[in-house]
Amino acid sequence: PGGRVPSHGEDVAQRQEGRRSAGPLTLALSKGRIFDETMPLLAAAGVEVAENPESSRKLILPTSDPGLRLIIVRASDVPTYVQYGAADFGIAGKDVLFEHAAQHPGGLYQPVDLNIAKCRLCVAVRQGFDYEAAVHQGSRLRVATKYVQAAREHFAAKGVYVDLIKLYGSMELAPLVGLADAIVDLVSTGGTLKANNLVAVEEIVPISSRLIVNQASLKTRAAELQPLIDAFARASAA
Ligand code: ATP
Ligand code: MG
Repeated sequence: PGGRVPSHGEDVAQRQEGRRSAGPLTLALSKGRIFDETMPLLAAAGVEVAENPESSRKLILPTSDPGLRLIIVRASDVPTYVQYGAADFGIAGKDVLFEHAAQHPGGLYQPVDLNIAKCRLCVAVRQGFDYEAAVHQGSRLRVATKYVQAAREHFAAKGVYVDLIKLYGSMELAPLVGLADAIVDLVSTGGTLKANNLVAVEEIVPISSRLIVNQASLKTRAAELQPLIDAFARASAA
C-alpha cells in the first residue's frame, strides 16, 4: 500500500508526457491566411519561421526557438490535433471551433482571441431571390453549407424551417445550379459572392481565430506555454 492513486487528470497528463517525452512544444496551424497572419504574432514573441509551408511542403516546421515547432494541418483538423494532445496548442477560426465543439464539447481551453483571419459567417442568396419573403411565407428553405451546426442554430433561433445540405467547399455554386436556395458561408470582402451573382442577406456572427490549448499540456507544460500565451495575447491586442 501507500502512494496515492493519481487522479484521472494526472493519469492522462502522464500518459501524454510519456508519449511525447517533453520535446519541443507543438503549435498546430493551417496554411494560408492563418499561417500568414500568425507569423507577425510569432515574431512579436521573438520566434522566426524560416520556411513557408506553401513552398516547402513540409508538415513539420522548426522555428528559431528550439522549444517550439509548428505542424501544418487542415483548418478543420486543428482542434482535433490539440484536443488529443498531438499538438500542445493551435490556432483555429471560431467557425471551425463552433463545429468541433458540437461533436467534442468542453475539451479545449481557449484563452485568447487573436483577432486574425477576420470575416463574417453570413447567409447569402442569388441576386433577385427574395429571402425575406421566403422567410416570412414560412416556405421550407434549402440551405447548403459546410457550417451545419452554426446554420442549424441560427435558423432554429429565428424559427425558420430549413433543410440543411452539407457541403465541403465551393458553397457559392449551390444556389446557381439549384442545389439550394441559400448558403451559409464566410464572407470578408464579398468579392467571391459578387463574382457569382450572390448577395449576403444576413450576418450570423463575426469570425476571428482563437488560440486553443490542450488541457493536459496547460498543466504539465505551463512554464513553457504561459510565456507564449502571454506574448500572443499582447501581440494580438497591440
Ligand atoms: P479546409 O481546407 O480545411 O476545408 P478552409 O478551406 O476553410 O479549410 P481556409 O479557407 O484557409 O480553409 O480558411 C481557414 C480559416 O480562415 C477559416 O476557418 C476561417 O476562420 C478563416 N477564413 C476563411 N475565409 C476567410 C476570409 N474570406 N477572410 C478571412 N478569414 C477567413
Ligand atoms: Mg480551403
